Amino acid sequence: MAEAHAKKRIAIFGSTGSIGTQALEVIRTYPDLLEVEILTAQTKEDLLIAQALEFRPNAVVIGEEKKYEKVKAALASTDIKVFCGEEALEEVADFDTYDIMLAAIVGFAGLKPTLKAVSKGKMIALANKETLVVAGDIVMKTALEKRAPIIPVDSEHSAIFQCLVGESRNPIEKIILTASGGPFLGKKPNFLVNVKRDHALQHPNWSMGAKITIDSATLMNKGLEMIEAKWLFNLEPHQVEVVIHPQSIIHSMVQFEDGSIKAQMGLPDMKLPIQYALCFPERMKSSYPRMNFRKYPALNFEEPDYKTFRNLGLATEALQKGGNMACILNAANEIAVWAFLKNRIGFLDITAVVEKTMQQISFIEKPTLQEYFDSDGEARNFAANLMKL
Ligand code: NAD
Ligand code: MG
Repeated sequence: MAEAHAKKRIAIFGSTGSIGTQALEVIRTYPDLLEVEILTAQTKEDLLIAQALEFRPNAVVIGEEKKYEKVKAALASTDIKVFCGEEALEEVADFDTYDIMLAAIVGFAGLKPTLKAVSKGKMIALANKETLVVAGDIVMKTALEKRAPIIPVDSEHSAIFQCLVGESRNPIEKIILTASGGPFLGKKPNFLVNVKRDHALQHPNWSMGAKITIDSATLMNKGLEMIEAKWLFNLEPHQVEVVIHPQSIIHSMVQFEDGSIKAQMGLPDMKLPIQYALCFPERMKSSYPRMNFRKYPALNFEEPDYKTFRNLGLATEALQKGGNMACILNAANEIAVWAFLKNRIGFLDITAVVEKTMQQISFIEKPTLQEYFDSDGEARNFAANLMKL
């Protein structure tokens, strides 16, 4: 009995981000069930300090080393351990003292600490989709060997995961990932060519970190999610389908072999999939606003515009090709999105950079982990040169 009531100790990697801060809201709501063991942040030291003083974790990591002294001094009167730098992320991921890692770092930077936690057999609440895009085969194989459960936090994958509860013996015919279409749904290249950063950062349905918001505008986010889904649910590329659903009420669907389709629905709010992952297999009572069908006389669905949003085609190619292709796509995209956010390249250039990088970097059919790191580095260098960064 005692064990069933013990609190789950959560390590939030990327606690100052959009997912990280919403996860802390969830933990604040269920203090009898969840507690914070580790918090990590790259740059926002003031927010990290405030979070640490409120939630009293065992340890915090500040990525930027020059901020270490400030964080250390601010927490000097507590017994919270303070670490800094990239390697510290793996060191704290290696701690025995937490139960669930919430992987909420953005981008490739999340891979190493997440893989460390997986190799320790920890439960992972996975928001950081790039971990699976880059090295999905190695991450999933390790998870299987070490019996590390990976519970998706990405809303589409959480939806699919929820649809699959109780269906373990029933093969999936296909999954249907829904996409809002982002702020530029229906627009054509002659419009997109002039799009600026601030416009692309306005997402109609979700408030998220900058990188994923741009990925949603270019539809690369859906491309990354196709690859994420392949690894999470052990699918063949042809079993992953995308449909545009502008209202973001159906978060995704599973079609079984009898033709029956299950969908998971709700108002778009990331706290729901975060909470589901942290509390799994229980569903906790919540007071979030409820869906009222009368306010949605129609839910719409349409085919994505592959001609305009070519990232979807590039991601499909990477999905089909396998090997290090998705790693290359991801690296080029990360650096191109960064350049776009700095107003260094145009909106359509993001896709051009990804495409050229995919053509240029050597393909490896079955990469080792080191080869994934090398491909990531090569792709970043090539893309940076292309953009004259
Ligand atoms: P964000 O930019 O808001 O936050 C990112 C967090 O990672 C911050 O805490 C930051 O300090 C940390 N970080 C950034 N760079 C780092 C580095 N190099 N090393 C270590 N830490 C670093 O991002 P987000 O929107 O919260 O997204 C986080 C992840 O979750 C992404 O992979 C994203 O695709 C995924 N995700 C987010 C949402 C959402 O609604 N925000 C939805 C689905 C999936
Ligand atoms: Mg998503």
